[in-house]
Amino acid sequence: MTPEHLLHIDREHIWHPYTAMPNTLPVYPVSHAHGCTLTLADGTQLIDGMSSWWAAIHGYNHPRLNAAACAQLEKMSHVMFGGLTHEPAARLAEKLVALLPESLNTIFFADSGSVAVEVAMKMALQYQQAQGLSEKRRFAAVRSGYHGDTWHAMSVCDPVTGMHGLFGSSLPVQYFLPQPATRFHEPWQPESMAPLRSLLAEHADTIAALILEPIVQGAGGMYFYHPEYLRQARRLCDEHGVLLIFDEIATGFGRTGKLFALEHAATAPDIITLGKGLTGGYLTLSATVTTRQVAHTISQSASSCLMHGPTFMANPLACAIAAESIDLLIESDWQNRVNTIEACLKTLLAPAAQWPVVNNVRVLGAIGVIELNEPVNMRTLQPRFVANGVWVRPFGKLVYIMPPFTISQEELARLAEGLLKSLRQEYGI
Ligand SMILES: *Cc1c(COP(=O)(O)O)cnc(C)c1O
Repeated sequence: MTPEHLLHIDREHIWHPYTAMPNTLPVYPVSHAHGCTLTLADGTQLIDGMSSWWAAIHGYNHPRLNAAACAQLEKMSHVMFGGLTHEPAARLAEKLVALLPESLNTIFFADSGSVAVEVAMKMALQYQQAQGLSEKRRFAAVRSGYHGDTWHAMSVCDPVTGMHGLFGSSLPVQYFLPQPATRFHEPWQPESMAPLRSLLAEHADTIAALILEPIVQGAGGMYFYHPEYLRQARRLCDEHGVLLIFDEIATGFGRTGKLFALEHAATAPDIITLGKGLTGGYLTLSATVTTRQVAHTISQSASSCLMHGPTFMANPLACAIAAESIDLLIESDWQNRVNTIEACLKTLLAPAAQWPVVNNVRVLGAIGVIELNEPVNMRTLQPRFVANGVWVRPFGKLVYIMPPFTISQEELARLAEGLLKSLRQEYGI
């Protein structure tokens, strides 16, 4: 297929994330990807700053992940999980349980991050119902949060950026807390807990669970907040019989400098959701992991089951790749790599902090964020990134990078250089 024909078909028939139809923004045909480089159909090479939305932690086309995929394909790509089980699921479960806090040991494998969040919310409702607390059926969430695009996941996303206005009264109404006020690198301000404390004091009898992205709010704001918030949220939720859900779909598997972001706070939720980096960016797979106590309470209730079961549950191909990806991560010096990326990003992005169009520059782990004062113009900015040899995909006021952990220091310097050069050209700096 010629690139022209490809683009014609794409424009006429295919929807892209959050775009109009026909799409009026530029899209670029990728022909292949290797390491940290995306190669476009016309041969242009781009250094990848996005890890395909947090997922490709080992870069692209990794020989060990390819081998794991091929080996599993020879056995079976998929088989139903109702009444059957298989080694890839068991191997992955064994590895996840070993890495997560000890209390989190009961796993539901689903097919995407949003579905993992739906499952976590259903678990919380069924858990409360099982104890005769059926009034506890709403959720508390935090502004600027992002938890996915399906119905109930969307209801706990930031009400403004999460499109609640569009869907109006057909979306369940949840309780929203302000963004945790103390930033990650600031001294802890105890007043940060006041909103959660008063919400629970007033409404805990109607709240099933509090859902949070620990430490790093991703797509909703790229905001880093203080670990103490999580420790105190844990205590407050316990006091009020509210379950605590950590959505680590973006932060899991090393991105923030810890294997899981909850380790910054040395605390554990009742339910955690994982996705994105779980398969190293190869296939869609997610996991909702909970405690024995939650699982047993649901299972001993009148319904006796957790009411969910996707067709592609625990897909063997995805599980086999995920198990290999975890091995690859643990055997690598990922912590060093992420620390090095963090140190480099701090230096490389620092010049932007002086620019009048920039509100804030922040770095945590392998995440670098330049927050502008005004939303970017994608129509003009995206082609500049491509012309400068980097793949960066801003949204709103946020220009951010989260490269694969395997990126070399030289590639990282080129990525930051291309990013800053594009912004300088865009804003005449
Ligand atoms: C991406 C994301 C989701 C949704 O995952 P999908 O696989 O896109 O459905 C949920 N929560 C967080 C924190 C995410 O970053």
